[in-house]
Amino acid sequence: MTPTTDHAAGTFFLPGPTEVRPEVLAAMTRPMLSHRGRAFEEMFDRLQAGLRVLFATARPVYVSSSSATGLMEGAVRCAPAGPMLCLVGGAFGERFLHIAQQVGREADVYEVPLGATFDLAEVERRLRARRYAAVTVVHSESSTGVLTDVRAVADLARAHGACSIVDAVTSLAATAVEADAWELDFVLTGSQKAMAMPPGLAFGVASERFAAAAREAPGRGMYLDLAEFEAFAAKRQTPNTPALPLFFALEVQLERIAREGLDARFARHAAMRARTEAWASDCAVRAGGTGILAPEGARSPTVSAVTLPSAVDGKALVKAVAERGFTIGGGYGSLASRSVRIGHMGDHTLEELERCLAAVEASIVEVTGDR
Ligand SMILES: *Cc1c(COP(=O)(O)O)cnc(C)c1O
Repeated sequence: MTPTTDHAAGTFFLPGPTEVRPEVLAAMTRPMLSHRGRAFEEMFDRLQAGLRVLFATARPVYVSSSSATGLMEGAVRCAPAGPMLCLVGGAFGERFLHIAQQVGREADVYEVPLGATFDLAEVERRLRARRYAAVTVVHSESSTGVLTDVRAVADLARAHGACSIVDAVTSLAATAVEADAWELDFVLTGSQKAMAMPPGLAFGVASERFAAAAREAPGRGMYLDLAEFEAFAAKRQTPNTPALPLFFALEVQLERIAREGLDARFARHAAMRARTEAWASDCAVRAGGTGILAPEGARSPTVSAVTLPSAVDGKALVKAVAERGFTIGGGYGSLASRSVRIGHMGDHTLEELERCLAAVEASIVEVTGDR
């Protein structure tokens, strides 16, 4: 039996969760097995092989039965003692800051307006001005569609004695994220974004020095203790009962990703970004005033925040698009009325995106005419 969904295939363009293909969903109905038995350990090995390719790492990939925020918190708790510098350009950069504050860590903020990029010279100036234990940064800021050069930020952090903690939630599996070559100290993602799985798993890789620091970190809690993930990974297990159905789905999805090939997957995402950019400027001519919030050259391959003509309200547009059978995301925070977000990630094809963009454009025309 094919699992049923309440949306047709190729119509669900939220910036997360993303559309999940039926065979991945179907894998979740497999019978349970013991997470302390041979069959699980063999599956764990197979999953590690696939995940290491995605993270471009030889290190173990921690698999947490939590959403991505769980590993964001785990990383902040396990980072070496000392103040943190949080780069904030939207909702997810801010989340790191909130976590730091909630777990009682001292944190300074380098904040830029929504849609703006970070100035690397300013990052360096701040790293010179104070000695930080860690820098938090988001690769693809899903609230604005801005892509940050996390490799450059990690290089700067390392040069000034700080660890890098990188949120790659809407970039990993859509564009290159190289944990080892870029010497990222901690990098994480979640299952429900560019990996195109159901929500509920988070994946992270720690550098050896970060893993060593984690073992010494006081107050790192229990459920998100990265030292435990490291110790259990060596035994091909997880510290606690994992979300087994999601592990089954992961195995199927990693096989699908390997079949497509990582380079082809990256190229498909680059093409979806390019198509959305081209559409936004064509649509500006045909229907007026659309654009992409993020500056050229710093645009996410997975999320486009589309700015709207003043006659079009973002919330009304999301509704009008839904009536045409497509789901897109609203603009974030103060951008809600003047933008919408299209999540072109995971397993979406260019053809599916084309139909979605046509529905958005027709809705813009309709909503403009209504006023
Ligand atoms: C969705 C998202 C998160 C948070 O993920 P959860 O799985 O909801 O905890 C973090 N960072 C980015 C960039 C995201 O897009």
